[in-house]
Amino acid sequence: MYLGQQDGWIEVVTGVMFSGKSEELMRRVRRALIARRRVQVFKSHLDDRYAGVETVSSHDGSTIQAVPVSRSVEIAEAVRRDAQVVAIDEAQFLDEGVVTVANWLADCGVRVIVAGTDMDFRGEPFGPIPSLLAIAEKVDKLHAICVVCGDLASRNQRLIDGRPAPAEGPTIQVGGSESYEARCRTCHEVPSVDRGQTEILISKRL
Ligand code: ADP
Ligand code: ZN
Repeated sequence: MYLGQQDGWIEVVTGVMFSGKSEELMRRVRRALIARRRVQVFKSHLDDRYAGVETVSSHDGSTIQAVPVSRSVEIAEAVRRDAQVVAIDEAQFLDEGVVTVANWLADCGVRVIVAGTDMDFRGEPFGPIPSLLAIAEKVDKLHAICVVCGDLASRNQRLIDGRPAPAEGPTIQVGGSESYEARCRTCHEVPSVDRGQTEILISKRL
């Protein structure tokens, strides 16, 4: 194996949905291609928004080619021996093994670019992203615009039929009637069914 042939590292682009993580990942990939680096792009197969599963797409519609994977080991299996840059989008949906894979690639001299949202819809740490943030050499946390008040947004608001989704829902929900908005801490709403307070919004202010 002669991955990278230079000093490797891990850089993580994180933050709320709509904050521009995929745009930033694509920008870094395009610049690496301009630099004639050998680049491979992977993404979780759970992200199939817009242009189909073989691409990374941003919310503004631009795309690059990407290989969809359902498990982190598929990245280790598919990475080419001469890869210099490996980018992984929507990493919050992957298993914890992506931390080992990212570390292994960086140790082999590969520049590893990981993008993923750091919090689930409840505002809690999401999948392997917290561990990736801890081991990364470089971290950029991006913000979107809160669609309620216009401040900087850091939280993923899950809506079901237009209403805030209860905390008891699954962390990953594919193909349901839910949708998402970017919101700030103050406007983020997570009602709790278990507490018998479905209509009461739970926040640190209450
Ligand atoms: P992410 O990968 O973080 O979900 P994308 O890179 O896919 O973000 O999309 C970022 C783009 O989403 C922005 O450039 C903007 O055009 C659009 N967008 C839609 N809603 C918002 C919002 N509430 N705040 C900021 N950008 C938004
Ligand atoms: Zn707000």
